[in-house]
Amino acid sequence: MNSGKLPRSFDCIVVGAGLAGIYMLYRLRGLGFSARVLEAAGGIGGTWYWNRYPGARCDVDNMFYSYSFDEALDQEWDWSERYPSQPEILRYINHVADRHDLWPDIQLETRVAVAVYDEAEARWLVKTEEGEQFSARFLIMATGCLSAANLPEIPGLGDFKGRLFHTGEWPHEEIDFTGRRVGVVGTGSSGVQVIQEAAKAAGHLTVFQRTASYVVEAFNRTLTDEDRTYFKANHHELREAAKKTFGGFTTIANDQSALAVTEEHCREKLEEAWQAGGITLLTSFNDFVSNEEANQRAQEFVRDKIRATVRDPETREKLLPRHVIGCKRLCLGTNYYGTFNRDNVTLVQLGEKGVEKITADGLIANNSEFKLDDLVLATGFDAMTGALGKIDIEGRDGQTLREAWAAGPRTYLGLMSHGFPNLFTITGPGSPSVLSNMLPTIEHHVDWIAGCLSDIRKRGAAIIEAEMEAQDKWVAHGNEVASRTLRYTCSSWYLGANIPGKPRVFMPYIGGMPAYRKTCEAVVAKGYEGFDLK
Ligand code: FAD
Ligand code: NAP
Repeated sequence: MNSGKLPRSFDCIVVGAGLAGIYMLYRLRGLGFSARVLEAAGGIGGTWYWNRYPGARCDVDNMFYSYSFDEALDQEWDWSERYPSQPEILRYINHVADRHDLWPDIQLETRVAVAVYDEAEARWLVKTEEGEQFSARFLIMATGCLSAANLPEIPGLGDFKGRLFHTGEWPHEEIDFTGRRVGVVGTGSSGVQVIQEAAKAAGHLTVFQRTASYVVEAFNRTLTDEDRTYFKANHHELREAAKKTFGGFTTIANDQSALAVTEEHCREKLEEAWQAGGITLLTSFNDFVSNEEANQRAQEFVRDKIRATVRDPETREKLLPRHVIGCKRLCLGTNYYGTFNRDNVTLVQLGEKGVEKITADGLIANNSEFKLDDLVLATGFDAMTGALGKIDIEGRDGQTLREAWAAGPRTYLGLMSHGFPNLFTITGPGSPSVLSNMLPTIEHHVDWIAGCLSDIRKRGAAIIEAEMEAQDKWVAHGNEVASRTLRYTCSSWYLGANIPGKPRVFMPYIGGMPAYRKTCEAVVAKGYEGFDLK
């Protein structure tokens, strides 16, 4: 601790030690910048440190949800499953930090509370919750898109006498549900994963659902030596091919309208994609997320899967999602719908009021009390802006980021925001981020920022800031592209609709990774067009 002393000075402060912060540190070191990573958690890994709930795993084919920057690592690391579990991914991230000896520059259990830009010195002054101070030329936010847990304001939350969990802040010790009365609120991706697992152990599991989700079958499996050998031999080609796709996934990409073919053919293609497993079902035609009629074909396909699986007619009816498929993020499951055929699982459809009250012994919904030993809140995150919003960030002329983003986040390329010089956001709002396989997307942003810092140094400049005009154009473009899709038709976290009072703005950039990469490259080629360098 250096409270009361002069701030410790670095070229760069990176906030967050998830996949983004770790790679950013690696790049900064390589360029000879002094850097310190400040991380609130007791370990590195971000998402994979916090989300330790049973069943937590990634939903992108493992080999593509891994760093590409370290050629030898790609060859040496052996993934065990198609969709590796949280412990395996966390082990991988720790292995990367060991391998590159990153630990000396990472400071854990350090939550950044305040960041103020000193215009005279062109430096950021950073203060932690513990009162420690740092000064840096560049401040790089690697705080994550899905890192601020959403604890809904349900009356009586503090009264519950049983064990209360949020999936995004799961305890480190093993949680045993054996024989217990477990309640899960929320049926998004986290809820789906925890429900499947908890049902196997619980005495009784009650699922409290507000909106039924579309859950696509994962077809997870143990990888064979042959799978791994294939990837290792072809990883360049495979990664390059993935980069050319909209979201950086390997996908069955088909640039054809679902309405250009017969309903039967459309179903065959959907079945093919379903059997291949994974969340790329909707790329089997090019207009599922832009044309309502096409979308209905995909909706009905998944509803039929549910109808064919769930035995109890009442439960089946409740599980049928009715909103536009792909409007909320698709979930990946393993026999999720089949879980509701178990005798020890009950589905409660919440009304408008949601969970009315939490009591000492359980919760009240639909005017009935449900007695519970354990309550799991799988209620998601204040996404994209939540973690940044918790920090008092003050830019030029005393303007705060909260004020600048009061009507929704405003960035240029999701990388910088006007009025906040030398402040970068990795996978910030306005970039493809959560609409893509996030690891290549993170690497792309980190590489762009690293290249930019290196160029700034070469030019002898000290300051870079997004120009207002370029930012306004980028925001308008992002809104325009999003308006061409069906993404505004439901209350998703992409729109901020899961957080009461949050402005409804479609936050990620939906123009696709290839177009976005090109734009970023063109900006650099034109001498950082739209950025002011001093
Ligand atoms: P994070 O991993 O969120 O790390 C951010 C870090 O910043 C955290 O450790 C946090 O503690 C720290 N931090 C935040 N604020 C502060 C502060 N004020 N001071 C200090 N530290 C701070 N994406 C995919 O592409 N595929 C998947 O399969 C996938 N699965 C997911 C599963 C779950 C359960 C969740 C929640 C998300 C998933 N994601 C997935 C998205 C995932 O968040 C990203 O893939 C990726 O892990 C993000 O890395 P990051 O470093 O940007 O952010
Ligand atoms: P989420 O998608 O936002 O789901 C939250 C769930 O909680 C929704 O079902 C929501 O219902 C419900 N909910 C929220 N507040 C509620 C309340 N007050 N009362 C009742 N229900 C309430 O959050 P998530 O499941 O944590 O997933 C967030 C994102 O993280 C995902 O979309 C994905 O990007 C990522 N993720 C990925 C994986 C993976 O498989 N790799 C796993 C977990 C998370 P409504 O829909 O009605 O709002």
